[in-house]
Amino acid sequence: MRRTMVAGNWKMHGTRASVAELIVGLRALSLPTGVDVAVFPPSLYIGQVIDGLQGLPVAVGAQNAAVQSKQGALTGELASTQLQDAGCTLVLVGHSERRQIIGETDAALIAKFTAAQEGGLTPVLCVGETLEEREAGKTLEVVGHQLGSVIEALGIKAFVNAVIAYEPVWAIGTGLTATPQQAQDVHAAIRAQLQAEDADVAQAVRLLYGGSVKAANAVELFGMPDIDGGLIGGASLNADEFGAICRAAGN
Ligand code: PEP
Repeated sequence: MRRTMVAGNWKMHGTRASVAELIVGLRALSLPTGVDVAVFPPSLYIGQVIDGLQGLPVAVGAQNAAVQSKQGALTGELASTQLQDAGCTLVLVGHSERRQIIGETDAALIAKFTAAQEGGLTPVLCVGETLEEREAGKTLEVVGHQLGSVIEALGIKAFVNAVIAYEPVWAIGTGLTATPQQAQDVHAAIRAQLQAEDADVAQAVRLLYGGSVKAANAVELFGMPDIDGGLIGGASLNADEFGAICRAAGN
């Protein structure tokens, strides 16, 4: 039985003051017990968030980590071992904003996925198609390739300690959400791809949906059989909305 998970990606949002307010809001929430809740603040505020959420069942993750797990000469990057030392347990890998805006390649994100696990973090691998790819009928091919390149490089067992987030690029931050059936179809294809390699891994790995999830659409999305929770961007910056999404995942 997979535990549902709701993770908030704060992206490049926040100041010390607004993060402090968000912590107060998160502390005031009544969170469902059956859901793993996590937040991914900007790296600058990870310490503040970990201190502020002490005692709360909320994991903290990083939005990015270096291609190597150990400290070293890599200006501007953070090693997974440093993030783990700071109290992180998770890290996003391959978010579409990093693939598209930063130009992160499959090779780089495979190295980051490996380094994350070496450093004791659970990678959350993000995959998803653009609007053009969906309109060209290439969704399953694109997502299959993104996932397949990691399986091919690292082997299926790498997913024993990993989470996968399906995030259609056209739904991220746009207010457009995949319908529950559209999301389910891709999630089912992802699980079938894993299943072809290892049935136990396929049944255990959590598949999150991300892309304009709000409290108003969360129940229907999370009700689909292969959707095990959500990766939430904009809506996670509002503690009450985020709490409502967490409760939707607990239903
Ligand atoms: C995200 O960036 O991971 C995301 C899902 O964003 P939003 O919820 O704002 O679409």
